[in-house]
Order: sequence, then structure tokens, then C-alpha cells
Amino acid sequence: MKALVYEGPRQVSVKEVPDARIERPTDVLVRITTTNICGSDLHMYEGRTDFETGRWFGHENLGEVVEVGPGVDKVKVGERVVLPFNISCGFCKNCERGFTNYCLTTQPDPQLAGAAYGFADMGPYQGGQAELLRVPYGDHNCLRLGEDAAERENDYVMVADIFPTGYHATELAGVVPGDSVVIYGAGPVGLMAAYSATIKGAGKVMVVDRHPDRLRLAESIGAIAIDDSKTDPVQAVLEETMGLGADRGCECVGYQAHDPQGSEDPSMTLNNLVKSVRFTGGIGSVGVYVPQDPGGRDELAQQGQVAFDYGLHWFKGQTLGSGQCPVKKYNRRLRDLIAAGKATPSFIVSHELPLEQGPDAYAHFDARDDGWTKVLLKPGLATG
Ligand code: NAD
Ligand code: ZN
Repeated sequence: MKALVYEGPRQVSVKEVPDARIERPTDVLVRITTTNICGSDLHMYEGRTDFETGRWFGHENLGEVVEVGPGVDKVKVGERVVLPFNISCGFCKNCERGFTNYCLTTQPDPQLAGAAYGFADMGPYQGGQAELLRVPYGDHNCLRLGEDAAERENDYVMVADIFPTGYHATELAGVVPGDSVVIYGAGPVGLMAAYSATIKGAGKVMVVDRHPDRLRLAESIGAIAIDDSKTDPVQAVLEETMGLGADRGCECVGYQAHDPQGSEDPSMTLNNLVKSVRFTGGIGSVGVYVPQDPGGRDELAQQGQVAFDYGLHWFKGQTLGSGQCPVKKYNRRLRDLIAAGKATPSFIVSHELPLEQGPDAYAHFDARDDGWTKVLLKPGLATG
């Protein structure tokens, strides 16, 4: 089969690799029809993780079941399924409590928890940026789609990761109807957080970034765009909230947060949130932070440490929730919102390309080039 193989920093190429196959009785084999490029792939693509060369990315996957192992009861050949980016067992101590983001069975390292397709430090599993994908514990991990699966494929594929992740940010922050919410980052995840806050009935949604194309998408769903290359984002939020600060805030950038000129500082968005969220407000942090970052700007960053403004955070009595999204907690409900015609998360999609154009797509998305807001790779799509 063909896969988009990682060969080193900013180098991926389409190669022939051994076919994914059923390895255990509980596996399901999926022929991928859509697999997205995610901001999380970019940390690995840029060489800012220990992702191994020769492996391939792809954790936002949707496709058709082509084979099931003898221990699979529910999922049938021919069904269209969307896969949570977390690979989980459903029966370990963490899964049992709903924390499929920290599964203890699928992560082989006993010091760690949580697994994902094609992801640094999240187990040996290959990604879906390929023609075929092996899905462990298939009955548990496949979310089946209805008759509109093909027609709404670009919406349903968002349920693999970023729609639930954006929703999770608003859950961690505690968004309820009427709240004012500020979101740092207007990448796909930030836009899904803004969309989720809107679906939940937030009174005012503000989105901070500096890319005009991304800010326009935020405005297209009724959010207030704040361009931090033109204005101080904290001041802008205070002005929008009678000087009090937003009720809730979401971090949707991660450890490679930088100023509009490109200078990195992993504390930047967290500290801006502490300043722009009100006393007793809630903050949800889903942008990725890492325990070690050898490419970080100084010793602190290299050790995964952040100069967090804990004094002000404590003084304001804010809450802070963080971590990977437990996709299974939300994916069924978000799928049903799409099926009911009440959510169309595909509004952020800018490109649908064959797998062969993956290398070029990575370069553009990594550069946050104008108009490259979300790329969907379609392995079945004819090239040219
Ligand atoms: P992205 O890189 O496309 O978007 C990030 C955006 O943040 C960019 O538009 C950038 O301009 C903006 N930004 C950078 N510095 C900023 C600052 N100081 N203030 C405001 N905006 C700033 O990525 P994405 O796909 O939207 O993902 C965002 C983050 O979410 C990444 O860290 C990704 O790894 C993470 N993520 C986490 C989960 C999870 O389960 N927790 C799931 C998916 C993605
Ligand atoms: Zn993702």
C-alpha cells in the first residue's frame, strides 16, 4: 500500500510500505477514504518530537471496513466508520472511568498512558495517512456512520479529533449558555472550540490569532476576531467584557506559541489567558505541551517547563483543565448533531487532495500559508 512516510524534519514522501493487516482477533481493517493533516502532526513533522523516521502520521481517520477479525461482533465489512484518534481498550482502569485518552492497555510503556495512530510516544501504531489502517479493539474504537456517510464525509471526519477536541476545551473551561469565551489560536482546533462554544449557547466568543484567513473563518460563525499583530489581545478582551475578563478561556495553540514576529514562548498563551479570564473563571488547555522539548528556546522550555503566572492564576481563583481529548466521550453526540444537520464543522476545510500531494500540503499547512486552513487527504482521489 502507499503511505506518506516521515523521513526527517520537514520531509515526508509517498512510498510503498507493507499493507496494514489484521494482527489480532479484535482488529478491524479500514480502507481510508479521508485522513486529515492536524496541527499535532506539525510538531512531529518539524522534528520537535522523537517520532521515528520510516513511520507515518495520520490520526484523523475515516474509511470503509474491508475486513474484521474473528473476535469482532458488531462492526461489519462495508460499513463506514470514523475512528477516534485515541486508541483505547475500553476495559482498563482509566477507560472504565471514561478516560480513553489515557488508556493503559494500548500504551505498551508502563510509565505512560494513552495511545494514538501515527503519534510520537503514543505507542507503535501506524497512522492513517495511507491506504489501509489497522484499528485495534475495533468494536470499541469504530464509530459507525449512517447512510449520509459519503455525502457528509468532510463533516464526519472532524469527529475523529478536532471537533471533539474543541468541544473538550469548552468542557474543561466550563462553558455554559450566556458565557463570554476567549479562545487563543484560530487554527482548526481553536475554530472548533469557537464553534462548540457557539453551539453551547455562549453569549460572546472572541478568537485571538494573527492570520486573516483564519480570523475570517472565526467571524463567519459569529465570533469576534482579535488580531494580536495589531492590538494587545488581553486589552481587547477586557474591553469586550466591561473590564472584568471573559468567563471562560481556551488554549488552542500549544508549546510552540509565538508572538506575531515568530519568537517562541510556551508561556505566552497561558499567561494571556490568566490575564484575560475573570476572577473564578475557567481555562481549558488542549494545545499540546510536552515533558521535554530539545528544540525549545531555552533550558526551561527544553525541560518542558513553563514560566506560568501561577501567582495571578491562584489569586484570581481560576480553574485549569488540560490534556488530550477523550474523543469517545463526545464523538457519538457530535456525529448525531451532524446527522441532524445542526453542525457542519467542514466549514474550515480549505483543501481536499490525493495522498500523492501530501508532501506539498504539509509544507503549505506548516507555513500557515494564506488559505491553507485545513487539509483533507483522500487516498482514493485520482491524482492530477
Ligand atoms: P495550528 O498550528 O494550525 O493552529 C495554531 C494557531 O495558533 C495558528 O493559527 C497560530 O497562528 C496561532 N498562534 C500561535 N501563537 C499564538 C499566540 N501567541 N496567540 C494566539 N494565537 C497563536 O494547529 P491546530 O490544528 O489548530 O492545533 C492547535 C493545537 O492543538 C496544537 O498544539 C495541537 O497539537 C493541539 N491538539 C491537541 C489535541 C488534544 O487532544 N488535546 C488534539 C488535536 C490538536
Ligand atoms: Zn489531530
